[in-house]
Amino acid sequence: MEEYEIVIGLEVHTELLTESKLFCGCSTKFGSPPNTQVCSVCAGFPGILPVINKKAVELALKAAIAFNCQPAKFSRFARKNYFYPDLPKNYQISQYEEPLASNGYLLIDGRNIRLKRIHMEEDAGKLIHSQEGENGFSLVDLNRSCLPLIEIVTEPDIRSSIEAEKFLTSLKQILEYLEVSDCNMEEGSLRCDANISVRKKGDKTLGVKAEIKNMNSFKSVRKALDYEAKRQISILKKGGTLRQETRLWNESLQITEEMRTKEEAHDYRYFPEPDLVPLTIDNRWIEEISSQIGELPMQRKERFMKEYNLSEYDAGVLTSAKDMADYFEECVNQYAKPKVIANWIMGDLTALLKLSKKGIKNSPVTPENLVQIVSFIEKGTITGNIGKTVLQECFKTGKKPEEIIKEKKLIHIHDEKIINELIQEIIRENPKAIGDYKNGKKQALSYLIGQIMRKTKGQINPGILKKNLLEYLNKL
Ligand SMILES: [Zn+2]
Repeated sequence: MEEYEIVIGLEVHTELLTESKLFCGCSTKFGSPPNTQVCSVCAGFPGILPVINKKAVELALKAAIAFNCQPAKFSRFARKNYFYPDLPKNYQISQYEEPLASNGYLLIDGRNIRLKRIHMEEDAGKLIHSQEGENGFSLVDLNRSCLPLIEIVTEPDIRSSIEAEKFLTSLKQILEYLEVSDCNMEEGSLRCDANISVRKKGDKTLGVKAEIKNMNSFKSVRKALDYEAKRQISILKKGGTLRQETRLWNESLQITEEMRTKEEAHDYRYFPEPDLVPLTIDNRWIEEISSQIGELPMQRKERFMKEYNLSEYDAGVLTSAKDMADYFEECVNQYAKPKVIANWIMGDLTALLKLSKKGIKNSPVTPENLVQIVSFIEKGTITGNIGKTVLQECFKTGKKPEEIIKEKKLIHIHDEKIINELIQEIIRENPKAIGDYKNGKKQALSYLIGQIMRKTKGQINPGILKKNLLEYLNKL
C-alpha cells in the first residue's frame, strides 16, 4: 500500500432549505403522502414553463460565497437528457458549461481542498419498489421532483478516506451554520458520490478512476473508499489494468460492485434550457448575501478558545453544531463559568439528548434551568451528584430545578445545629483522619466530607458542611 497514493474527488448534492420547489410553488416538506405536493410543472406536463425560485438562488450563492467560490455574473441552466421513470420530463434542469460559481476551497487540517464548481439543479422523483404480487411492482412519488439542489464538486485533492470524511463533516457543519440545508442524510438532503484512483507515489498523471455511488453515511463513504483503494492497488500489483467505471457501494456486503463501464456511460446531450433566462448576478446582490454570512464553525471555535478559555477539544465539540454553540453561549451569558457549563452540556445533557433522540434546540432542560442547577452546585446548595438527579428529572418533566429540589426533598439537612452534631460525631469516629489532617494531609478533609455524605445519603447542604467542618478542624 505504501508505494501508492490515493486520489479522491467528491461530488456532494445537498437540498436547499426553501419552502417551495425550484421551478414551481409546490411545498418541499419531507414525509408527506406520495404525490400530494405535485403540480403540472414538477410532474413534467407538456408545455409547462418553469419559473426560478429566487430564495433558492440566494441560498446557493450564500454557500458559494462561504466556500470562497467566485460567483458567476452570468450563468445558465441546461437540460440533461436521460430517460428514467422518476424523471417525467425526460430531462433534468441542471447547469453544465456555465455553473453558478467556481474556484473555491475549504481548509481541512491546514490544507486547501479546492472546489471546482457549485451549480444548481432540480431533484428527480423517487421510485418505491415493492416485492408484493407475482413479479413485484414499482411506484413513482413525485413529491421530490424539482426540489432545489446544489452540487458541490471538488478537485481531486483529497488523499485519504479519513480526509474525505473530515471534508464532508466540515462541509456539512458550514451548510448547517449557513442554514442553507438541513443536511439530513436519512432524508436524503445530503448525498455524496466519490471519484477515486490510485497512482505510484511521485507520479504526476492521474490513474484510472472509478466513481462510487450509493453511500448513505459518512462512515460508508470512508469504508467504500478504503475498499476501493485496496481493490485497485491489488489489481495493479498483479500487473492488471483498471478501467473507468461506475461502481455501487453494497452496504450489506461491504464491497463495491460494478454498475457500468465508461463505454456504457450516458450521453446526456446537454443544451441550454430555452425556457429559463440566464441568471445574472450583480455585485450588490453578492455584497448583500455576503453580509448575511455570520460566524462560521472554524471562527466560532477559535473565538470560544480565546473568549472562554476552552481547550481545542471542548471548543470543537461545542461548535460542531450551531444549535449547541448557541445553547452554550446562552448559558454563559447568564452564568460566567464556561468550563463548568461546557462539561455539563458535553457530558450529562448530551447523554440525555442522545438517549431520547432529541436535538439540543428542543431540550426540555432550557439554558435557564441548566444555569440554575450549576449555580446551586457552585453555591453549595446541592452536591454534584444531586445535580445530576435534578438534571435528569428536569429533562423528564421540564420542571424548574428549584421546584424539583423542593418537591423531591433532595436536600433535607440545612439546619446548622444538625450539621454540627454530625461533624462532632465524625470527628469522634475518625481519630486517624483527624491526625492526618493536623499533620498537613489535606486530602483527609475530602475523606471526612465523604463520610458524612455517605451517612446522610448526600442529602446535606455541602456548602455549610464544608465551611463548618473546616472551622472545627482548625480549632482542634
Ligand atoms: Zn410543482
